[in-house]
Amino acid sequence: MRLPIRVQLTVWYLAVLTAIIAMLGAFIVVRFRADMRAGIDRDARHTWRPLARQYAAGGLQDFASYSGTVLPRDGADQVFDSGGRLLASWGEAATHSVIVTPEVRAEAIAGRMRVVTVALGAEREQYRAFVGPIDRLGERQVLAVAEPFQPVEDSVERVLTLLLFTVPVALTAAAAGGWWLARKALRPVERMRSKAEHIGIDRLGERIAVPRGSDELSHLATTLNAMLNRLEQGVTEKQRLVADASHELRTPLAVMRAELDVSLLGDMAPTARTVLESVREEVDRMSRTVNNLLTLAQADEGQLQLLTAPLVLRDRVRAAIRALAPAAAAKGLEVEEFAVLPAGEPGVVEADAQRVDQLLANLVGNAVAYTPPGGTVSVVTWQRGEEAGLTVCDTGPGIPPDALDRVFDRFFRVDGARRRASGGSGLGLAICREIAVAHGGRVWVESDPGGGSAFSVALPVAAPTVRAGLLKAHDDEVTLREI
Ligand code: ADP
Repeated sequence: MRLPIRVQLTVWYLAVLTAIIAMLGAFIVVRFRADMRAGIDRDARHTWRPLARQYAAGGLQDFASYSGTVLPRDGADQVFDSGGRLLASWGEAATHSVIVTPEVRAEAIAGRMRVVTVALGAEREQYRAFVGPIDRLGERQVLAVAEPFQPVEDSVERVLTLLLFTVPVALTAAAAGGWWLARKALRPVERMRSKAEHIGIDRLGERIAVPRGSDELSHLATTLNAMLNRLEQGVTEKQRLVADASHELRTPLAVMRAELDVSLLGDMAPTARTVLESVREEVDRMSRTVNNLLTLAQADEGQLQLLTAPLVLRDRVRAAIRALAPAAAAKGLEVEEFAVLPAGEPGVVEADAQRVDQLLANLVGNAVAYTPPGGTVSVVTWQRGEEAGLTVCDTGPGIPPDALDRVFDRFFRVDGARRRASGGSGLGLAICREIAVAHGGRVWVESDPGGGSAFSVALPVAAPTVRAGLLKAHDDEVTLREI
């Protein structure tokens, strides 16, 4: 598992800092101990010389008194004869201990000076001892001078204990600081990420804010924006191509449709009629797809222009049903149409008739296409509060719950099997949504898999004065029912 960069930065920072502090601490402690030891060794050597001179001249007499004047109070010294016998001793630490081991004493007898660490006294405390030979009355003797090293060891121990307690606290504070810094440094990246996440195909005009200055982050933002420019340009060119192509295809399709209608009016063999009717159906389907593509391209370019006028919804519903009646009859479908309207309301909206027809053609067309032979398609026109709309119900296969949210997405189709069977493009419902939203309305679907679907469109109802004007004209036709 990869940890977030913020955590990685903090962990690395902490690891490097810990290593640096550990090395620095070790270096300082070792250096401090070595320097102190060198100082004590120097002192011991400087003390040894006058003592050796005094002893060589005066012997054991006054040994204690001049030892007391030359040595520090907690120091000690001892003299041994050539056989290793202790001749004299001064200092409390030397009372119960011998400063030199036989080996060191033998080396001194052989004429070599040595500085060694020894443990003296009842407490076995650390001392540095300078040991060297003295020639007195023709005999080689050994003088050992010891100076306390324990205070240095105690100081080192105190420093180590101090480091042991303060370093973790300092590291915790450094980790918190590192975490905060990493967060601060990565905040602009997070801002860019969330902005980039929101830029979709429908918001390609938006850009990422470029942080001030000319650092890596501002370069990243500029590069991303340049990429968005190129994407936007590419998408715009594609949309224009689709819009132009669909626009060019509309006229020949309309001409073909008209010519087919004329041809079907004349006498012809039944097989030829069947073929021509099937061709007319395909031309209708192609026209719907081309219209859908053109509408989508216009919506994407922000050019979905609406020529709105007061519209009695039920009239448009009836017209759509009429247009699809042959296809429904061919499948043996029963088509019902009725209205549920409050008294005195004709269900009027201010909308673009052509777009509403397109929307209805898609919804009713789908119901007819997806309902198996022998089923029923019913279209209800309704008005509730500030909305007037319609619901197209069918007894088709329904839509699985996991697909309900996506059926209005472009090119979404429920499954491959149905795709092959019905040959749709997956654009119809996306177009319905674009048209409804452009009118300030909405679309939704309710469905039980296996129990049919109900697609609804709601549009803002027209102003009361507009509604009253149209009510009179439709009084005779519309069956008003109280709700
Ligand atoms: P298509 O051209 O495929 O019909 P639409 O956008 O109109 O494209 O529909 C998207 C998908 O939603 C369809 O492919 C189909 O799977 C499903 N669908 C639409 N209407 C119905 C319906 N009345 N009954 C069952 N499924 C439907």
